[in-house]
Amino acid sequence: MTVTAVASTTHEEIYRVEARAHGLVGFIALHSTQLGPAAGGLRMRPYASEADALEDVKRLSEGMTYKNAAAGLALGGGKAVIMGDPASQKTPELLRAMARAIQGLKGRYYTAEDMGMSPADMAILAQETPYVAGLAEGEFASGDPSPITARGIFNAIRTTQAHKSGSKDLTGLTISVQGLGHVGWYLCELLSEAGASLIVTDVNQAQVAKATQAFGAKAVAPDAIYGVEADIFAPCAIGGILNAQTIPQLKVAVVCGGANNQLASPEDAVALHDADILYAPDFVANGGGIINVATEIERITNRSAYVAEKLRALDLTLKTILAQAKVEDQSPDAVAISTVLAKMARQNAA
Ligand code: NAD
Repeated sequence: MTVTAVASTTHEEIYRVEARAHGLVGFIALHSTQLGPAAGGLRMRPYASEADALEDVKRLSEGMTYKNAAAGLALGGGKAVIMGDPASQKTPELLRAMARAIQGLKGRYYTAEDMGMSPADMAILAQETPYVAGLAEGEFASGDPSPITARGIFNAIRTTQAHKSGSKDLTGLTISVQGLGHVGWYLCELLSEAGASLIVTDVNQAQVAKATQAFGAKAVAPDAIYGVEADIFAPCAIGGILNAQTIPQLKVAVVCGGANNQLASPEDAVALHDADILYAPDFVANGGGIINVATEIERITNRSAYVAEKLRALDLTLKTILAQAKVEDQSPDAVAISTVLAKMARQNAA
């Protein structure tokens, strides 16, 4: 296995990892360790090129710096990616080689599941390094973060709605949900229990059929979700879906969901603000997942109290960001980023 440093002016450390014998090419990026060891998941995707994989790991690790800081965690931002199709190219040897590269960072980076990874894969990584979270078993195992992620998004939806309309009550509101996977499904359960009517979509038709049954949801085609009339849009599938093509179609007052990197570019936050659509920054709204993972990294014994406390604080952070954005007539995304940068600067000065 070879681990080669990649020069960067934006990230503290980036490494290219290669183990030819096991078909491994990947990257590990540590954007910032200012607030603590860098933490963020390991993603496996059939990237078209190494340049694409490198770009993804840089963007995602920077996002983790903001997410971890917003969630009030003593963790920095990091991420790792492996090039390849997880369905056909993921082998225990490949995972173990990546784990040895993570071990080589001696705890400056903690990994967990991301796209293409499962708790079983984390157990394989853990054979080579202790710097792994998201395990299904063990004293501090945190398991599937999705229910906590969904709970955090649900709180964020209520807070954002209250900021917009004066009431947290979701009874009778219409909420469109894109993506009915782990997070989207748990979120639909919470929204449905809270009395909201759901309009849903997914590229997986079986999930859509299940949601129409379980929640009495109305289903629309994947591309039609942007144009539906609703009070709130909750993106819970993929990134980049808030862009110059989709924003003009939106007929909602609030966008608040769990997908990472919903904005195609920072200008899209401004476009939403100009359209009077209140956008809850994704890295704040979906912080529940990393809070759950942090219980494992920090070896927290009273998990539920810790999670409840951090979720409460996260909700307060969002409320403060929305209030400041209103006063400054700025997009909440810009305010959220400046809030976490200021927090890091204070930490630096201390
Ligand atoms: P998942 O893979 O379980 O679910 C994603 C769902 O989106 C799938 O059902 C998929 O079929 C659907 N989908 C994909 N492309 C679509 C499209 N174009 N239109 C409609 N549906 C589409 O993933 P997840 O764990 O539920 O995560 C969802 C999002 O939330 C991702 O962006 C993820 O990065 C983010 N996120 C997840 C967690 C977590 O705890 N799982 C935490 C933070 C952020």
